[in-house]
Parts: sequence; C-alpha cells; structure tokens
Amino acid sequence: MSQASIVGHFINGQVREEGERFGEVFNPALGMARARVALAGRQTVDEAVAAAKAAFPAWSEQSALRRSRILFRFKELLDQQHKALAEAITLEHGKVLSDAMGEVTRGIEIVEFACGAPHLLKTAFTDNIGGGIDNWNMRQPLGVCAGITPFNFPVMVPLWMIPMALATGNTFVLKPSERDPSASLLIADLLRQAGLPDGVFNVVQGDKEAVDALLQHPDVEALSFVGSTPIAEYIHQEGTRRGKRVQALGGAKNHMVVMPDADLDQAADALIGAGYGSAGERCMAISIAVAVGDVGDRLIEKLLPRIDALRIRNGMEADADMGPLVTAQHKARVEGYIAKGVEEGARLLVDGRDLKVPGAENGFFVGATLFDGVSPDMIIYKDEIFGPVLGIVRVPDFAAAVALINAHEYGNGVSCFTRDGGIARAFARSIQVGMVGINVPIPVPMAWHSFGGWKRSLFGDHHAYGEEGLRFYTRYKSVMQRWPESIAKGPEFSMPTAK
Ligand code: NAD
Repeated sequence: MSQASIVGHFINGQVREEGERFGEVFNPALGMARARVALAGRQTVDEAVAAAKAAFPAWSEQSALRRSRILFRFKELLDQQHKALAEAITLEHGKVLSDAMGEVTRGIEIVEFACGAPHLLKTAFTDNIGGGIDNWNMRQPLGVCAGITPFNFPVMVPLWMIPMALATGNTFVLKPSERDPSASLLIADLLRQAGLPDGVFNVVQGDKEAVDALLQHPDVEALSFVGSTPIAEYIHQEGTRRGKRVQALGGAKNHMVVMPDADLDQAADALIGAGYGSAGERCMAISIAVAVGDVGDRLIEKLLPRIDALRIRNGMEADADMGPLVTAQHKARVEGYIAKGVEEGARLLVDGRDLKVPGAENGFFVGATLFDGVSPDMIIYKDEIFGPVLGIVRVPDFAAAVALINAHEYGNGVSCFTRDGGIARAFARSIQVGMVGINVPIPVPMAWHSFGGWKRSLFGDHHAYGEEGLRFYTRYKSVMQRWPESIAKGPEFSMPTAK
C-alpha cells in the first residue's frame, strides 16, 4: 500500500473511494503515512443506511439457517485469511503479529458462536396457559444497526457485533476507527465472497461527522459503540434520546491484586503480559498492580528483570513482544502522563520515554514504564493512560484492596492472584467490576459468555456478544393464540386469568 492508496467505504457491495474529506493512516512502527482514508459526511452515511434499509426485508425474511450458512462460509474464509488480517492489523495498529493473530482468533470465535443462531433464536412455548390459549415468544431483528469501533481491536471488536447482528436478521453499517481502517474492507470482502447479499453489510469510514450522521439518522434502530468513556457516554445519551437502542462500552483502569500467598513469578509474568502486551492499548490491560501486605518489594524484584528482557520492536518482526503506540499524538499523550506521575510524586522505577528502536527510529515507541508509590489521588491512578505504564499501589490488606478497586469510576476487568479459595470467592463476589479473573490476568469471556464492564465502563443494559448480544440485536415478542372452538360466548370485562 502506498501513500497514494485510499481506504474507501463499502456500500451496497461496492468499494467507494470518494471522500468529502481524507485522513492519514500511519504505519506506527515506521512513523510513516501508508494510506489515506476517506472520511464520510452525511451524504455517504445516508447512502449506506439506505442500502442497509433496502436490504433488510429480504435478509430478515431469510431463514436463520440460511443466514448461518453464509456466516459459516465467512468463518472458513476468515480462517484462510487469518494471517492477512493479522498483518493488516499490525501494519496500522502496531501490535505484534502474534498478538494480532490472537485478536483474529477471538473474533472468529464470535462468528462460530453466531453460526448457532437458529438454536439461539428458538424460544419457549407453553401449551394451554388456560382456556385453550397457547403462549410462545419470538425474537425479531431490529432493522438497520450501526457499529462504531475503536482503533485497538480493528478486527475483533467489529466481529463482536457483525456476526451477532447479521445472524439475527439485521442489516449493518460499520464505522471503524479512522486510525486503522483497512481491516474493515477485508472483512467486507470476505462477507461478500461468503455470499452475503449486497447492502446487508456496509462500511463507512470516518470520524465524528460520520458518527453524528449515524446517531441522528432516523432509520438507524440500534448502535453498538466501543471506545473511550466520554464518547461512549455521548453516544449513549444522544442515541437513547432519539429512541435508539444503544450499548456503549467505554474505557477502563484495570487492577490486579497480588496477595501475599500468590506465586510471585506467575504474578510477575501476568503483570508483564497484561501491562505491556499490545503496548498497554487494551481495554483489559492491567495498569495498576495492587500489592497487598509485604508483597510490594518482592514483586518489584521480579518485575525489573522481566521488563529489561522485553523485546520492543516493529511488530512485524517474529520475536517482538511489544510494538509502538498507534500515533505520534498518542505517544505524546502517554509521555505526558509519565511526566505527570513524576510531578505527582510517584516513584519512576523504569522510564520508557526516549526509547529508540534500531531500524525503527521514527516509530511511535514508548518503552515499558513502571511506577511505585502510586496513590488513589494521583491523575496517573485515576485516568486511563492506554500505554505501557504500570503503577503499583500498596495496601495493607485484602479489604483495602477491594475498597480501592470498588471506589474507582471504571469497572471493566480485574484480577486477583492468590492460592486461597476463600479469598478468591470473596473477591469474585464483592468486586464491583464486570469481568473478573482469579489467577487470570486478562479475563475476556469466551464467545458464548458475554463481554462488558460495570460503572463508567459500559452505558446501556446489555453486554456484548454471547446471549447478551443476541438479546441486544433482537426484539422480544410474546404471542398468545387460540381458535374459535375454545372461545366462550360473550365479551369478558375482567382481567383475563388462567381458568
Ligand atoms: P475513541 O473513543 O477515540 O474512538 C472510538 C470511536 O469513536 C472511533 O470510531 C472514533 O472515530 C469515534 N469517535 C472519536 N471521537 C468522536 C467524537 N468526538 N464523536 C463521535 N465519535 C467519535 O477510542 P479509541 O482511542 O479508538 O479506542 C481506545 C478506547 O477504547 C480506550 O478508552 C479503550 O478502553 C476503549 N475500549 C473499550 C473496550 C471495551 O470493551 N470496553 C474495548 C476496546 C477499547
């Protein structure tokens, strides 16, 4: 792909490269622009929504089994193109290729789950609730659904939404992140090859202007959003105000509690992987280690050599552990937080600023950074930094660890390392966080469970994918039916009850 290449929209089965405006897409490891992305205005969004609306009647009337067969072919094509998708991620996001391969796998798992939609759409039937009346339920599609996705999972997060929406009979408009947009067109092409009718799935590239056009469009019935908390809250407020169904997943600040009885080698390995993997650009990254009792110093001893051994490279290199941040602006923002932490009085044990990676000197790299002595009043504790910055907060006991975490505004993921079953059970039950790991640092639920945080990490009533996803993308209807033989003569004026 050369700088002249344009990442376009995909509307009604056609790639469209025209744009009202254009943005630049970078290769973050090289620090160089690699393409331009078309940025949709209202007219392009209107065309995509119109295509999705026109495709809805036929698609929603297809049997669930036929829809699932197309998804099954899509899954096979994703398997075949697994590496190509991962490369597209690494080239624009910067995460290392093995991590990008894992991202694609986690997306494919949702497609596999959605292939079982005929079974999932099966509902309850009660024979003769009384008076010869039978009662059953239906789950019906909503119509045109839109998805707005973040830069940090350009394949997995769209695949949290698309298979669930399509399997349940909806049509879809995706607005991916403008920072790494290419993977969305690969997904569109694979859906086309799988036999998806034109208009059922569409992509509009863009920024706030495209998002606002989707939010304000009267034919968009539902919006799934994943991104930072201020935008999630905005999407939720603006969407629900207009009567749309909205699920908006936001930001995070995930803690990992290390109890004195934990295996500290395992805990340190977990912190390194979950803190610095994907350069900390994960909504499930661990950014705070909560050292309980006397664990702090021993944990630091374990962490320092592991940080030293990290291979920070261009993510396309086979043995890289960690790549660059996504843009120069984001690198500057993360470095600003490191400076802020020093100013606030946290102890900077490892400073990742000014890192130069041989062969990738212009890349947007920040090295692994470690702070000790972080306290809850500090900005570096409160804010989501979204970079390779791990802070250690020391607390006297388990109760203080739980109180600390429960007081944070975010509640996405959390983890506790311990050998004590009683502590583990108390932790899982009392922690105010949506996804909990016991000796598991990144507890991302499997496809048939559902993903989502609590508090300001999620706005809306449904978590993503799994059965929660099925509920989000369908409307529930209950039907009662009887036939003339069982209808008594004359009107009834009292509230109907079972007889
Ligand atoms: P972001 O909020 O900047 O962007 C997300 C999407 O919103 C993009 O498509 C973007 O184009 C659009 N957008 C940006 N500014 C907008 C505005 N002013 N109005 C309307 N739309 C706007 O997020 P990001 O930087 O792409 O992704 C990182 C964030 O996403 C982090 O906060 C991370 O925690 C969060 N995230 C959350 C989850 C989760 O499941 N909770 C998963 C992945 C990422």
